[in-house]
Amino acid sequence: MKLCFFDDQRLGVVIDGTVRDVTGVLDRLPAYRPPLPRFDPVVAALPELRDALLEAARAAPGRPVADVRFHSPVANPGKVVAAPVNYQAHLDEVAADPATFSRAHAVRIQESGLFLKATSSVVGTSAGVTLRFPDRRSDHEIELVAVIGKPGSNIAEADALDHVAGYTLGLDMTLRGKEERSFRKSIDSYTVLGPWLVTADEFGDPADVALSVRVNGQLRQEARTKDLVLSVRSLIAFASSFYTLHPGDILMTGTPEGVGPVAPGDVLTAFVERVGTAEVAIRSA
Ligand code: MN
Repeated sequence: MKLCFFDDQRLGVVIDGTVRDVTGVLDRLPAYRPPLPRFDPVVAALPELRDALLEAARAAPGRPVADVRFHSPVANPGKVVAAPVNYQAHLDEVAADPATFSRAHAVRIQESGLFLKATSSVVGTSAGVTLRFPDRRSDHEIELVAVIGKPGSNIAEADALDHVAGYTLGLDMTLRGKEERSFRKSIDSYTVLGPWLVTADEFGDPADVALSVRVNGQLRQEARTKDLVLSVRSLIAFASSFYTLHPGDILMTGTPEGVGPVAPGDVLTAFVERVGTAEVAIRSA
């Protein structure tokens, strides 16, 4: 199943290139009082909502995906966990260009650990990216994104994929410079997710998935997840060895070689196999 939020924050299921409005199913969610849960309510309830979502989708009229605006498919992620240099060829390009990439980042991921991005940086693919400092370099980073579905701490690699609700496409946009990585990557709109969440049962094994990004039609990054240094399984085990993962938590798995600058007016064509393609506009503030 492909799940999305679209237009005026309607909940949708995507079937055969059309979006079916299933917002009414949200009435089945419990009402929450503060303190609010650390998980995303929709992702947490997906197993129970699944049949109702499919039933509502079958009955709803479809609108072409080209006619709607997609928001982040996870409305309220508790945290955005991200993998630094997690493809060997990207580590090589980082190490070779200290003028662009901070020296501190030419480190093996097993030593550096993971980092966090502010959840306020998350947008859907239709929102596009707004460059807050257009005179400085901002780069595209195409990534496969796993969305946690089942809570866990100290998760074993063998069990890790049981904790995934689904997968989506992500752009981990990055301002270059000397500030802390989490600061530079947490600018509003610098975490692009979407256009929809593909549930894990439909997506299958994330071990060898193609991903790419073009800028104004020109190919910039192209790789397969089999070349990840730490696999999706390993990343989940690693992350959960430091903190509990909750439903709706976002795991950005790292970007391959070929990162490069974007400018206002550019259009990114981002692709993740089994998710699809999204056009993402770059603009200035
Ligand atoms: Mn990244």
